[in-house]
Parts: sequence; structure tokens; C-alpha cells
Amino acid sequence: MNDVTLSYGKHLITHDLLFTHFGLSGPAALRLSSFVKGGETAHLDFLPQTSEEELLTLFEAQREKSCKNVLKGLLPERLADFLAQPLPEKIKQLSPQEKQVLVENLKAFPINITGKMSLAKSFVTKDGVDLKEINPKILESKKVPGLHFAGEVLDINAHTGGFNITSDLCTGWVLGTPMY
Ligand SMILES: Cc1cc2nc3c(=O)[nH]c(=O)nc-3n(C[C@H](O)[C@H](O)[C@H](O)COP(=O)(O)OP(=O)(O)OC[C@H]3O[C@@H](n4cnc5c(N)ncnc54)[C@H](O)[C@@H]3O)c2cc1C
Repeated sequence: MNDVTLSYGKHLITHDLLFTHFGLSGPAALRLSSFVKGGETAHLDFLPQTSEEELLTLFEAQREKSCKNVLKGLLPERLADFLAQPLPEKIKQLSPQEKQVLVENLKAFPINITGKMSLAKSFVTKDGVDLKEINPKILESKKVPGLHFAGEVLDINAHTGGFNITSDLCTGWVLGTPMY
């Protein structure tokens, strides 16, 4: 799904998200994975551009329609089917409480984080050699003169979208230039 908001505590990530056979993936999940360990509950806003009030107004305007069709107008089909499962046939049949639960599911769907994939399946690693411990110009350790670092081993955990590989290539280029 494009541009959903995944949140945990103060971390609010609006980006694309994938539902896969093993759980959540895609840029939003990858970014949130920096801040969680497993055991937390994150929340998913499927419609960050639409407020709760706007949803309630929309339901009122489409009260004669089936819940499934109204949700299909807002979400991918299989997700709409999933959220419509426990609901009565039509929007007008929703009790005020059911309407509220539906809005909460759309705006703050709880996601229990059971854990993260293994290191072998990771895209990038958080942590590594502290940037404060190296001279940024020549990437030399301040603790061990003559020892230089480049790439993933540095504590650089950039946003998804090519920034990691860019910093790896740049630091590799710096170390590979003839001045060394
Ligand atoms: C599936 C996947 C998707 C990714 N997608 C993106 C993306 O879209 N955008 C982005 O910016 N980043 C992405 N990344 C992250 C990016 O690929 C890595 O951050 C980057 O490749 C790290 O570069 P590196 O040269 O530091 O390390 P590596 O690419 O891991 O290279 C280290 C090399 O050292 C070799 N090596 C290890 N030990 C030894 C040894 N003892 N002796 C000799 N050689 C050794 C390894 O075989 C390896 O070839 C992705 C990573 C994965 C796994």
C-alpha cells in the first residue's frame, strides 16, 4: 500500500508498506524495524490523509451502500474484505460502536510485533563503528591510527531509497583513492 502511516510511540513513518506471507515489509516496516525489538504494538493508519471526522461523514453519505463496497473504495480489495468480515451487510446497519471500531481499525490498526527477521535477511544493520570515533575526512580510527573503515561496518543507518548503498560506495571510494 502506498503512503500509509506506521507508528510506534514517537516514531511516525509515512511510506509504502507490503503485506507478505511472513509479515510486514517494504520501506515503512524496514524503517520502523530500527526502533522496535519485538513484543511492542505498533499502529497502522491506512488513510493518513483522511481524518476520523471525514470518514464518519463519508460513511453517512454512503449509508445505503454495502460495507464491503465502501471499504473497497478506500482500500485494496483483499484488505477491504478482511476489515468488512465482522461487519453487517450495509453501512446503515452499523451500530455507533461498530462504526467507531471500524474508524479505529482504519486509522490505528494495532499490529503486534512478534519479532524481526534474522541478520541474514536484513537489508542494513544499525550500530557499527561509532562515527565520533573516526576522522570523517579520511575515515581513520581515532583509537587505532592506520585503521580505516568504509561501508556497512560504519554506524550509518540511512533511509531506504539508496542512501545506504550511496554512503557505502562513497566511503569505499574515499578509501580506494590513491592518497592512501
Ligand atoms: C536484500 C537487500 C536489499 C537492499 N536494498 C538496498 C537499497 O535498496 N538501497 C540501499 O541503499 N541499500 C540497500 N541494501 C543495503 C546495501 O546493499 C548494503 O548496505 C551494502 O551492500 C553494504 O556494502 P558493503 O560494501 O559495506 O558490504 P557488503 O556489500 O556486505 O560487502 C562486504 C563484502 O566483504 C566480503 N567479506 C566478508 N568477510 C570477508 C573476509 N573475511 N574476507 C574477505 N571478504 C570478506 C563479503 O563476501 C562481501 O562481498 C540492501 C541490502 C540487502 C541485503
